[in-house]
Amino acid sequence: MEQGIDKILLTEEQIQTRIRELGAVLTAEYADKNPVIVGVLKGVVVFYADMIRQIKAPCQIDFMWISSYKGTVSSGMTIRQDISADIRGRHVLILEDIYDTGNSLTFTVEHLLAKEPASVKICTLLDKPERRKPGITLQADYVGFTIPNEFVVGYGLDYNEQYRNLPYVGILKPEVYEK
Ligand code: 5GP
Ligand code: MG
Repeated sequence: MEQGIDKILLTEEQIQTRIRELGAVLTAEYADKNPVIVGVLKGVVVFYADMIRQIKAPCQIDFMWISSYKGTVSSGMTIRQDISADIRGRHVLILEDIYDTGNSLTFTVEHLLAKEPASVKICTLLDKPERRKPGITLQADYVGFTIPNEFVVGYGLDYNEQYRNLPYVGILKPEVYEK
């Protein structure tokens, strides 16, 4: 196991199996909707690439880059790069790496809804419901895994921009971020 990783929470195989299951559901849902699939950068890139290849329906890809996470506490949100597609009247599927406090997804959904799409749905690989901020009522429509309140890295998720390239989701040793 890589240095700094305490334990593996989700193996590569568990992740890929779940993505195939979600893919079947999303393929049925979006079969004739030609959705714009919006990835929220940067954490989603690994999940995004695997997920879209399991959606066996015509679709368009796009990305939004919002301010990155600093340390283990969510920071404020700004748009670094907006999507490029015109989504008015289109079906939008947001792919996210993790639904934590809910700040970034709430921000993203409100931003996209202002562009008057036909629909907006959310698919998140990970959901940490224990961390949800009071007052956030938004629900993810599709969830890969509900996980406990631990700081995870790998499969796109970083700590100080490291660990994104791990093929699994692991729990970081607390001493790594307590240093
Ligand atoms: P939220 O706005 O829901 O608090 O946080 C969403 C973003 O925070 C995620 O897209 C991700 O970038 C980051 N984040 C939240 N929890 C974790 C975690 O356990 N590990 C890592 N690496 N990033 C996280
Ligand atoms: Mg993210």
